[in-house]
Amino acid sequence: MIPFNKPYLTGNEIRYITDAHARGQLSGDGPYTKRCNEWLERNIGCHKALLTHSCTAALEMSALLLEIRPGDEVIMPSYTFVSTANAFVLRGGVPVFVDIREDTLNIDENQIESAITPRTKAIVPVHYAGVACELDTIKTIAGRYNVAVVEDAAQGIMSRYKGTALGRIGDLGCVSFHETKNIIAGEGGALLINRADLVERAEIIREKGTNRSKFYRGEVDKYTWVDLGSSYLPGEIVAAFLLAQMERAAEITAQRLKLWHLYHELLEQLEEEGSVRRPRVPEMCTHNAHMYYVLVRDLETRTALIRYLKAHDVHAVFHYVPLHSSPAGKRFGRCHGQLSVTNDISGRLLRLPLYYELGVGGVTYVCELLYKFFSVSFPERFSYAQVGY
Ligand SMILES: *Cc1c(COP(=O)(O)O)cnc(C)c1O
Repeated sequence: MIPFNKPYLTGNEIRYITDAHARGQLSGDGPYTKRCNEWLERNIGCHKALLTHSCTAALEMSALLLEIRPGDEVIMPSYTFVSTANAFVLRGGVPVFVDIREDTLNIDENQIESAITPRTKAIVPVHYAGVACELDTIKTIAGRYNVAVVEDAAQGIMSRYKGTALGRIGDLGCVSFHETKNIIAGEGGALLINRADLVERAEIIREKGTNRSKFYRGEVDKYTWVDLGSSYLPGEIVAAFLLAQMERAAEITAQRLKLWHLYHELLEQLEEEGSVRRPRVPEMCTHNAHMYYVLVRDLETRTALIRYLKAHDVHAVFHYVPLHSSPAGKRFGRCHGQLSVTNDISGRLLRLPLYYELGVGGVTYVCELLYKFFSVSFPERFSYAQVGY
């Protein structure tokens, strides 16, 4: 049985959790949280990193920080996870859905400018599959109209755009450590702040609207309620688990990339035969192998392929129901243009299993099944016997 995902454990998680327990502080912002924040600041190069209990929480903090008010518009793709939109809708914001590019499935930067109105407050590029959006163009447009850029880098840890880490380029960046992502904490995330003027308020919003962070640093003598806020920080147990993962981030990414490239090589011929289309990665992007997907001819083919793989013990999945076609998306958002690429690819995309322990044998097995399904003969040089399954 090949599951779609299998969370990888480095072996140090339990040791760090035991240590956190022994230290006696289990609530947030203890030594493990600080080390996670420092890891992010060092590896991403952001001005300030604040661990959160999810990427959703980091997106909600972004909406609060940017003072999104009822009727304010936020430009984003429709082809994304619900939290991208929901975080802003909670503040009364209106998601304005823009179509995606056919190659990367990221927001089409050439359709953003015409979606801007006097009510536009932010652009939220989502780095799909850990492959960067065209950030230079997006930043230029944002600068021209004085709107903020919030990177939804939920899938983008360890990825880069022209050499700069994702989450480092917008005003704010949001990453996820959910168990389905590359580096995990069960549930977890971080807000990456690239503007010094937003740091103090971010700390307050994260700590229930209090000046607790300042109080603990000895900068104020009273701990009190000063602004809007909620509880957005994780406890130390989660941070201890996450630090063990962060310390192995390079190795985890390298292993995923090895499997990603194997998929890509094995499926080349199937693409040449016209049965599938493989992912596209622009030259200026180094990605983190968050996802391997294929695009098939149509919805019927995808449904049949999922059933075929399942019958052979392989669990493959699809996403997303485009937000503009969802009940809440229709109620809270609006579309900019026809969203024809989004409508087209959402019915044809299939994600294949990809996790640390999948191995060369696992990838080869899945690819052989794909060739069989499409009645194309599997390239001899890649067969089990050749790779030593
Ligand atoms: C996973 C994901 C999120 C949400 O992350 P959580 O940490 O589960 O809140 C948001 N946006 C995108 C694009 C995601 O893939």
